[in-house]
Amino acid sequence: MHLPAEVQSIITTLHQAGFEAYAVGGCVRDLLLHREPKDWDVTTKARPEEIQKLFPQHFYTNRFGTVTVLTASKHAALAQVEVTTYRIDGNYSDQRHPDEVRFSTTLEEDLARRDFTINAIALDENTVIDPFQGQADLEQGIIRAVGEASERFQEDALRMLRAIRLASQLDYTIAADTLQAIAAGAATIAAVSPERVRDEFLKIVMSDYPEKGFNLLQATGLLPLILPELAEGVGVKQNKHHIYTVFEHNIKSLQFAAQYNYSLSVRLAALLHDVGKPRTRRRRGNDYTFYAHEIVGARMAEKLLQRLRLPREVVQQVTHLVRHHMFYYDVGRVTEAGMRRLLHRVGRENFADLIKVRIAERKGSGVPKAEPYRLRHLQFMAEKVSRQAVTVAQLAVNGTDLIQELHLKPGPQIGGILNALLAEVLDNPVKNERSYLLQRARELITADPETLKALGEKARDEEETKRDETIRRKYHV
Ligand code: ATP
Ligand code: MG
Repeated sequence: MHLPAEVQSIITTLHQAGFEAYAVGGCVRDLLLHREPKDWDVTTKARPEEIQKLFPQHFYTNRFGTVTVLTASKHAALAQVEVTTYRIDGNYSDQRHPDEVRFSTTLEEDLARRDFTINAIALDENTVIDPFQGQADLEQGIIRAVGEASERFQEDALRMLRAIRLASQLDYTIAADTLQAIAAGAATIAAVSPERVRDEFLKIVMSDYPEKGFNLLQATGLLPLILPELAEGVGVKQNKHHIYTVFEHNIKSLQFAAQYNYSLSVRLAALLHDVGKPRTRRRRGNDYTFYAHEIVGARMAEKLLQRLRLPREVVQQVTHLVRHHMFYYDVGRVTEAGMRRLLHRVGRENFADLIKVRIAERKGSGVPKAEPYRLRHLQFMAEKVSRQAVTVAQLAVNGTDLIQELHLKPGPQIGGILNALLAEVLDNPVKNERSYLLQRARELITADPETLKALGEKARDEEETKRDETIRRKYHV
């Protein structure tokens, strides 16, 4: 097993100064699995002051005894190596941070404070130190707490999510006692900060086996505590065309999005696209309808993602994808004008992602009719009209033109005229030409507001917004 030169050189420097030092934790786990470690950690008997003296290029924030040593590496994962003094953690009375960090003089104690056996292996150039049989668990694909599982989760409730996250990344099984301890301790997750929950949640979503992760969240009782909106879909049957419950369908859609290596926003939209179904489900005959579930679901997704403190752009993107995931298309019937109107509604910049959500969602419904070729055709249509105007901003005239050329006063009339012009251009792109649009605008000056509104109908977003608001009020979301 070879450590990278940067890490080996740090260990050698510590050895030469008379201190024990080992690579430890996730990097050793990944190295043994032939996976690329995301970051490198070194554990050592040297105290923070001593580490700092040996490595002039470092920074130290005095938290948990970790000195970040800067290497000259061009690889992001190796540019900074965390060098930490052997520790024994005190109590975690807030389930977040150890109340105190006590340094230790033995590697054994430092490994014993770590979360899982596969994360408690130390390595130097010629020895593997593995007191908790982490290698055996790596071979069998098992996540097992170091020591008494329930105690370890009481110390730090986040470890419950770390266990599930690791199982999703590695496709591992959680050992029976460890799993039971998670189920028994689930309620303590409430004490963990939303940011720490978010980080693990995102790692599950971005893992290779997210469906496994969400099934584990559900089986352990964590799901309703951190993602209650998703939990609403557990056991909720859909109409006769669906073989899966709402929850199963949501997480299978995410699984396909992961399989296709889609982006974070697409994965989240796949996971959340039907989150509004339980609240909107109504009986009709022997079947169910889910009228407006995309509107209710978009709002629920927005709240969930905001609560988890996701970046605003991600929240907006995902909400938008969920809101528009029901878009209608039919290869034979979608005209170029229909295509432009669809792009107008969903936004050109979101269209490729929306198709990906549709692909994941079709695959995740378990019916053979995923038909990606039809969606590729739609993508082709979208590209075909891609240089044509689908927003007011892309018209050959703008508000300033109308004010200067037609001597209009700034006000709602300008927006009304531009919308009416856009509606014409969506129907026929040839009309997006300055002199034609100015002439047409001149004719529209005398139109009363109602007529203008009717002319602009196809290009208006306000109607849709108003309808959305009514529905959201009705469902209290
Ligand atoms: P990743 O692949 O995300 O880096 P990791 O297991 O390396 O996963 P880190 O946060 O980098 O996670 O932590 C490095 C090591 O520190 C872990 O492998 C584990 O030994 C220890 N560790 C991290 N978080 C905890 C925790 N909450 N409780 C106990 N030990 C922890
Ligand atoms: Mg790590």
